[in-house]
Amino acid sequence: MKLLKEKIVNEGKVLSDTVLKVDSFLNHQIDPLLMKEIGEEFANRFSDQVITKILTIESSGIAPATMLGLTIGAPVVFARKRKSLTLSGNLFSATVHSFTKNETNEISVSKDFLTPEDNVLIIDDFLANGEAVKGLLDIVEQSGAQMIGVGIVIEKGFQKGGAALREQGIRVESLANIKSMSNGNVEFY
Ligand code: 5GP
Repeated sequence: MKLLKEKIVNEGKVLSDTVLKVDSFLNHQIDPLLMKEIGEEFANRFSDQVITKILTIESSGIAPATMLGLTIGAPVVFARKRKSLTLSGNLFSATVHSFTKNETNEISVSKDFLTPEDNVLIIDDFLANGEAVKGLLDIVEQSGAQMIGVGIVIEKGFQKGGAALREQGIRVESLANIKSMSNGNVEFY
């Protein structure tokens, strides 16, 4: 997606060979017009599928997932990283190791919002080692819902997550796929 790649090149900050900071449009400040286009692009890529639910993880997956939800008219469920007092019992849970924070969180989704009748598309901001997506896939499996695929805003194709998911036969669509970030330069596939 051309506009997204331009944003990454113009505003992204390469913090190391493996970490990209995109706080000006995705992870802190949000660019709503870009998010709208991202939502429409995901809708186009998965237009051959009937999606009844979009599943993401708080917090940075929520904006792109919601814009897709708005475009196709499907509800968005975000997995929570901390159990709130109002979210007790009745949960699907999985463990996720965070690449950027180097900590392990339990993520949870209420059983009220995923059922065996759902066709689920997973959306997230970044794909690195695939831990977050694996946790979400685990939750979809527990719910008995059908898995349609995974939509990612920025994939770092030099890390192992995307290849591992595709090897398992999971459809992964990323809107920008980074080949390398060495010497501070972002190169796309
Ligand atoms: P994974 O679980 O695939 O290893 O990593 C994906 C998750 O880690 C995403 O949900 C995202 O929040 C975070 N993440 C991974 N790599 C980066 C990165 O280079 N920059 C930012 N901002 N977040 C990242």
